[in-house]
Amino acid sequence: DHLFKLVIIGNSGVGKSSLLLRFSDDQFNESYLTTIGVDFRFRTLPIDQKQVKLQIWDTAGQERFRTITSAYYKGADGIVMVYDVTSENSFQDIDKFWISEVESYAEKNVELLLIGNKSDLDKQVSTQTAQEYAKSKNMEFFECSAKTADSVQQAFLTLARKLMNKKEQL
Ligand code: GDP
Ligand code: MG
Repeated sequence: DHLFKLVIIGNSGVGKSSLLLRFSDDQFNESYLTTIGVDFRFRTLPIDQKQVKLQIWDTAGQERFRTITSAYYKGADGIVMVYDVTSENSFQDIDKFWISEVESYAEKNVELLLIGNKSDLDKQVSTQTAQEYAKSKNMEFFECSAKTADSVQQAFLTLARKLMNKKEQL
């Protein structure tokens, strides 16, 4: 009865598809590859005795060419922006590229979540830097690992809760 559309963006290789596989199926697969074209998965979560269904869209490699179309963002209630904690470049690209995509194509009142993925590896991006950046853009922030499952549920749950609260305030 409560359905939200989420989209996942961020540089190629940061672990977007792996985060989605972890969140939707609680699996991790080193050689997981999506097929060509946009793919989405559903996950239903109970929040305060209500069933909240998330439809989560994943890019299938077109982010490598930065050719994600506006249709991908259309109707999105939440956007999950992902960088890789071992890649300074993937973090810088959030501000250099992905934020402006969101500003151009997403609804004005969209809720944003920033995920620093691969927290099981040695960090190149400091937690504090990312936290301050997220705060400045009014985004929730989590460091996660699709591999070990660290904080993956919490991150998506926080976004889902925010969307539910917002809906109930209307
Ligand atoms: P995408 O291009 O953003 O969808 O990234 P993928 O999900 O395809 O992941 C890219 C690579 O990073 C794959 O080899 C994954 O196995 C690996 N990977 C993804 N998430 C993690 C993680 O949390 N920790 C580690 N160590 N590797 C990860
Ligand atoms: Mg992918």
